Amino acid sequence: MAAAASDLPTSIGWIGLGLMGLPMATNLLKKTSEETKIYVFDVVEQAVQDFVKLNERRVEACKSSKEVSDKSDIILSMVPEGSHVRAVYLTPETGVLESNLGSKVLIDCSTIDTGTSLAVRDACAERHPNASFYDSPVSGGVIGAEKATLTFMLGCREGDPNIKLLMQLLGLMGGNIFPCGGASLGLTAKLCNNYTSGLIAIATAEAMNIGIASGMDPRVLANIFHTSTAQSSILDDWNPVPGLCPDAPASKGYKGGFRVQLMKKDVGLAVDNAERLGVKLALGAEGLKLYEEASQDERCKDLDSRVVYRLLGGREDWRKDFPEEVEMKKYATRKALQIGKEQQQKESR
Ligand code: NAD
Repeated sequence: MAAAASDLPTSIGWIGLGLMGLPMATNLLKKTSEETKIYVFDVVEQAVQDFVKLNERRVEACKSSKEVSDKSDIILSMVPEGSHVRAVYLTPETGVLESNLGSKVLIDCSTIDTGTSLAVRDACAERHPNASFYDSPVSGGVIGAEKATLTFMLGCREGDPNIKLLMQLLGLMGGNIFPCGGASLGLTAKLCNNYTSGLIAIATAEAMNIGIASGMDPRVLANIFHTSTAQSSILDDWNPVPGLCPDAPASKGYKGGFRVQLMKKDVGLAVDNAERLGVKLALGAEGLKLYEEASQDERCKDLDSRVVYRLLGGREDWRKDFPEEVEMKKYATRKALQIGKEQQQKESR
């Protein structure tokens, strides 16, 4: 058991056991005390059964979000969209708010529109004035969820009365937890991040296309970006061009990673936010159009969002023209670091 988990309530509820929810809840199960019980619900019965099997003594299947809330002191949800969050919290008879919440803490980790999140929070405050509802979306993807290295963007102030509990609980699933200043600002941060990374991916794919079409080896171009102003984590770790980053989805047929439909959703939510707030966007509408197209294109649908490179006509067989080996600076750096680490370990033995 992780020492940090000692002050947590011993009944925790989890709603939504999908790609993200399952590994996040699994980390909670692993890192909380033996006395802690986890109450779970998902509309897909099999997802619940699979999770229960991990520990039949400590995990209990529930028939609704309300039952989870009845039995837990702190409740987390991780579902796809705003409509699902409304269903989880506001459905008459079976929703979370139907429970007698008292001073319970509710945390929604889904990436949804700020309007829905605020509406659920207001409904909660009206019916259960002592309960607290927080938005806390995450970044880091399925791998971050599995490794408990997620970044949580928490919709509250540093001085929130529940901050210690929130930090402790979310710390079992993540490496970085940022209180963002107030309700719904966690979602604002998440949408701004994905808007930026989604557009950087398009710009990187387009620039790589220009380079390759001009006769330039994309590895040389990527090495130059890496040491120049076009450097980004998209370039270094999630490069849209297959074969540049061996671990990136692009090098594995765009499998794994962040589904293009989710990127479409998040860029769309960011563009809606900008419109509502009167913030002028130069790139938003065009970027969104490309992700919408990719979400419907059979060659791209369900794949990692960096598959926009394919939609833009990017060459995936570029190696044919550039048979010579070129060492990638980013991976060269990693390799050097790894060798350094191994050397250190040898010396300390
Ligand atoms: P998913 O579709 O894999 O899982 C969602 C789960 O919620 C499913 O098991 C579904 O059955 C369940 N669900 C839907 N409606 C429900 C309801 N009313 N009651 C109970 N359960 C319900 O989605 P995911 O990839 O886990 O993503 C969840 C959220 O996390 C999304 O908002 C997404 O944008 C965000 N997110 C995803 C990733 C990623 O890489 N997949 C990364 C960061 C953030």
